[in-house]
Amino acid sequence: MSLHGQYDDQNIFAQIIRGEAPCYTLYEDEHVLAFLDVFPQSYGHTLVIPKRSAARNILEIDADSLSKMMVVVQKLTAVLVAELAPVGVQVAQFNGAPAGQTVFHIHMHIVPRFEGEALAVHAGGKAEPQALAALQARLLQRMAG
Ligand code: AMP
Repeated sequence: MSLHGQYDDQNIFAQIIRGEAPCYTLYEDEHVLAFLDVFPQSYGHTLVIPKRSAARNILEIDADSLSKMMVVVQKLTAVLVAELAPVGVQVAQFNGAPAGQTVFHIHMHIVPRFEGEALAVHAGGKAEPQALAALQARLLQRMAG
């Protein structure tokens, strides 16, 4: 499963969209879902996915779903910057395993970068559930305020 292939509706993000697997939701509307990465590369690492597009990558997603996803990426980047005060933010998206893709439902990464802190390994160590829940609460409070 890489750059070319069939969409697998059992992938973990499809399960999350259907409510069959849990996530630390930050934002959800009819078209877009955003949640914390559970193997974060930095504090606040967030993923944004389209809910209605069975697209594995940027080659497959329709323009409308892509646009709606990117609007949420921009909004959440602002929330992460306001709440966590990083010195930089990476917004990234990988297509195909050789490019670093591990989950084959298109998603955008928002990765806050902090002074002097290297990135953790991509899809590496799992964060503590309590830490993720606390971060989720903090970011939800920021969005509510
Ligand atoms: P990519 O390698 O670009 O396909 O990114 C997939 C991302 O999904 C990685 O950063 C993983 O840490 C993350 N990930 C995998 N499973 C889950 C999950 N159940 N909940 C949240 N994030 C996940």
